[in-house]
Amino acid sequence: MFDVIVIGGGPGGYVAAIKAAQSGLKTALMEKSELGGVCLNRGCIPTKSLLHAAGALRNMKEASAMGLQASDIGFDYAKIVAIKDSQVKTLTNGIQYLLNKNGVTVFSGQADIVSTNTVTVAGQKLDTRYIIIAAGSSPVKPPIPGINHTSVITSDEALALTRVPASMAIIGGGVIGIEMAFAFQSFGCSVAMIEMEPQIAPLMDADISKGLSVLLKKQGIQIYTGTKVQEIRQDSVLCSKGSENIRIPAQKVLVATGRTANGQSLSLDKLGIAHQKGIIGTDVYLRTNIPNIFAIGDVNGKYMLAHVASAEGIRAVGNITGKARPMDYSAIPQCIYTEPEAACVGLTEAEALNQRLDFKVSHVQAAANGKSLIDGCTKGFVKIIAEKKNGRLLGVHILAPHASEMLAQCTAAIRFRATAKELEEVIFPHPSVSELIAEVVHGIDGKPLHA
Ligand SMILES: Cc1cc2nc3c(=O)[nH]c(=O)nc-3n(C[C@H](O)[C@H](O)[C@H](O)COP(=O)(O)OP(=O)(O)OC[C@H]3O[C@@H](n4cnc5c(N)ncnc54)[C@H](O)[C@@H]3O)c2cc1C
Repeated sequence: MFDVIVIGGGPGGYVAAIKAAQSGLKTALMEKSELGGVCLNRGCIPTKSLLHAAGALRNMKEASAMGLQASDIGFDYAKIVAIKDSQVKTLTNGIQYLLNKNGVTVFSGQADIVSTNTVTVAGQKLDTRYIIIAAGSSPVKPPIPGINHTSVITSDEALALTRVPASMAIIGGGVIGIEMAFAFQSFGCSVAMIEMEPQIAPLMDADISKGLSVLLKKQGIQIYTGTKVQEIRQDSVLCSKGSENIRIPAQKVLVATGRTANGQSLSLDKLGIAHQKGIIGTDVYLRTNIPNIFAIGDVNGKYMLAHVASAEGIRAVGNITGKARPMDYSAIPQCIYTEPEAACVGLTEAEALNQRLDFKVSHVQAAANGKSLIDGCTKGFVKIIAEKKNGRLLGVHILAPHASEMLAQCTAAIRFRATAKELEEVIFPHPSVSELIAEVVHGIDGKPLHA
């Protein structure tokens, strides 16, 4: 008899299993494919590995701006892919090691829940007090005519390509589409991104979406917004924008329009676990409608982010072992790892307006920052949104080099309900891009120091 069985070994499941074992619970983890889930094998890590190489290549090509001379700049894509794969292997081996070290029993195979206290895997029937479902998500292909052409790929196949295609049309201008566009364009592929909404990164603050769009276009990526894909042909994508018809030639068509939760792989209906098309419903304590069964990560459809999956795993275990506490989603960082990076936490300006909040906005350009000038990237900015009455930070939006690293401090500030005045007292290292944070909080009262 286990105390907890975790189904799925992604960043939600493996973190939950380690936390459960560390909390003294007899824990099992079941994984049908690879430990690390999408994040390590087909998501966060392999994309960032390719983006790192892509960014380095761009920097090499632009080195003359620093007075450096380099000739015969080139790359070996097969080697880049091999390095990516070995980094993934190092990390997934690490997870196996951590699970063993913490005494988690790992089962390989497809798990199913056969009763509220019984799970089957690899021909065995195991009893448990609690179940944590962390079954993740998979890419979906929308029902567009021609979607089954062999040229059509998802992010899974894009990351497994061993050659850079000559041209690629990317359907979907969200985070995955944008990161793939940046990576493949950097390696010499001619990339066109097609987005139905008026802006790419439509869920981010409008200033970030616009700023990012300008920078990506400058880097050579063609961006078609407000554009609908009508048909995919073997060698092209046919789209329409209002009354205009557009034909985009493409050797590969990457569909990055969304993902679907993997709840369907479990006998949810048989057990009466409430779900909508495989997205498992939970309360604020991450419990499904069956009190001893929890659902965390992509499978509950709240945020499809690795760090949210892990945080939910830790919270779910806390709710099993101690006094139940609701999951707090007030400060969820979201990043796009292009160069420069885009990173956001808290409310966008549109969300603050929709919620009819009384707020102020402060905005500083990276051009006013010494380190950005030295780094050769003065095109970005930092924007904050704060409550008018007390200066409490509501949202931070950054388009700048190292934005994902800078966002961590802003996430802490929003999580602990800091005000702009309190952040004014923080001393930032000089020179650093982070000094933009100091500048932007001074600006909330209309008194920026360097503008
Ligand atoms: C291209 C791409 C880039 C991304 N980049 C980022 C990023 O930079 N940052 C970020 O935060 N997020 C990123 N994500 C999203 C991130 O990968 C997911 O949010 C995260 O992996 C979700 O974790 P999870 O544990 O919920 O599920 P998953 O990682 O999907 O893991 C679920 C696991 O459960 C297993 N499983 C499913 N059903 C069963 C079953 N019945 N029995 C046994 N095992 C089962 C699956 O095999 C899988 O290994 C990216 C995603 C993609 C596709």
